[in-house]
Amino acid sequence: MCAKDCSETDAQTEAFYAALVARHSSDSVIVSGPDRQACWVNAAFSAQTGYALQDIVGKEPGTVLQGPDTDPNAARRIELACAQRREVRLDILNYTRDGTPFWVDLKVTPIYDSTGLHTHYISTMRDISERKALEDQNEEMRQAEALRQSERQLLALTSEWLYSAKSFDELLMVVRRAMHTLIPEADGALYIYGEHRRTLDLVASWGTIPEFPQHILPDDCWALRRGRAYAYGMKPIQFPCDHVHKKDTPYFCLPIIAHGETIGLMHIIFDGFEEDGLMRHMRAEVLNNRWDISLICAEQISLAVANVRLRHELQERSVRDALTGLWNRRWFAERAASELAAAEREGAALSLIAVDVDHFKRFNDQHGHDTGDLVLREVSALMQDMAGEQLHPCRMGGEEFTLLCHGTANDHALNIAETLRASVAGLRLTSSGQDVPGVTISCGIATFPQDGRNLDSLMRSADRALYKAKNSGRNRCVTSAASVSD
Ligand code: GH3
Ligand code: MG
Ligand code: MG
Repeated sequence: MCAKDCSETDAQTEAFYAALVARHSSDSVIVSGPDRQACWVNAAFSAQTGYALQDIVGKEPGTVLQGPDTDPNAARRIELACAQRREVRLDILNYTRDGTPFWVDLKVTPIYDSTGLHTHYISTMRDISERKALEDQNEEMRQAEALRQSERQLLALTSEWLYSAKSFDELLMVVRRAMHTLIPEADGALYIYGEHRRTLDLVASWGTIPEFPQHILPDDCWALRRGRAYAYGMKPIQFPCDHVHKKDTPYFCLPIIAHGETIGLMHIIFDGFEEDGLMRHMRAEVLNNRWDISLICAEQISLAVANVRLRHELQERSVRDALTGLWNRRWFAERAASELAAAEREGAALSLIAVDVDHFKRFNDQHGHDTGDLVLREVSALMQDMAGEQLHPCRMGGEEFTLLCHGTANDHALNIAETLRASVAGLRLTSSGQDVPGVTISCGIATFPQDGRNLDSLMRSADRALYKAKNSGRNRCVTSAASVSD
């Protein structure tokens, strides 16, 4: 019975329910004719778009709803589907009557009557603005994460390179390159304290048009005065450092600290912000991110500088004599061999001056070992004063020294030895307020190639000449040729 009742009312009921659904659906519905001109819209459409039926009737809905940022490809896909009388479903940006954009999930379905005649299009539109906003936000987060990831990789790479630096020059090369890559919109400079810590000297700069003072005073920098990194241009109360000439530009000053001691300063200045509108808009965000990167870099550079200094110190220690600071026997052996090879290649002269303090055993016995040490240091200082590109004084052990004289002929070497002998003889020394009697030295000179073609024979010749000087009364200089001819 029920089945009969139902079947009788089927068509009417369905039409009734369909009308209800269309009217009260929260999705917008547009009914268009086969020419795609709208002929009916539901209440949700008016609520969603602000257009009443009379605003859209007789018009193609796309012309009313699409706007400047609607993807033309999406519009074209709808055109094509309608031309082929196919159903189409896509996300498209529409605009309300007052011009507010909103995203919809649009489905356009062609409708046919019982004879197969195409009579209408039904367009349903669901507002997906929230979902789109979420997707955009996710995309932004994904991009930000990708950026952070690439920054992390760059930082890791930088630290690896910084640690591989063997010399200070190599380190500066890595710093320049890394900082420019990590913070491309900024210029930067690295300063290191001078010998007496009165000024900081510019050792490296990078960026587009870096113009930094060659020296800055520690008192001219807030970071150095306050002993911590300083950012200018990010806080409401702030004062520019005196070493910065562009007072309206954001910048960072980051102390470089090695083994607990401030040894320098990294200065990073954001020159491009003022002119560039986009950068100005993102300024706070970009600066915060760059601040974090700069802090990490300053720390890594600090460690790398300490590392290079330690490496240098160890290397120096292995080739320097501890008492006098002169090159040691090990350095001499290596350097003399390579200079001798060069002299042979270039056909240049090379002389060795063997130096020995006269009666030094007696001196020690009479005045004590400490005073003896003082004499060795003073004699070494005289040699160090004569040192240069071509003259390398070395302590071979005890009170014996050798001067390696590159590009120096025999007579010139004799002059050098004579000058040294005279200055040692003229030394006036005091120890604990007491005058100490002077010492003298004897020198033996041998020159490549005439006195020996390899290091051993050359050293033997110099020793022979020295022996001759000792035997002929000390406090004198004798050349190898003279020692042989007698
Ligand atoms: P000569 O004029 O023949 O060279 O006599 P000399 O006494 O200098 O010769 P010798 O080689 O016999 O003595 C070298 C002395 O140098 C022995 C040692 O007391 C002293 N000496 C060696 N190394 C040092 C050092 O590092 N400090 C001090 N104070 N003395 C040293
Ligand atoms: Mg000796
Ligand atoms: Mg001696």
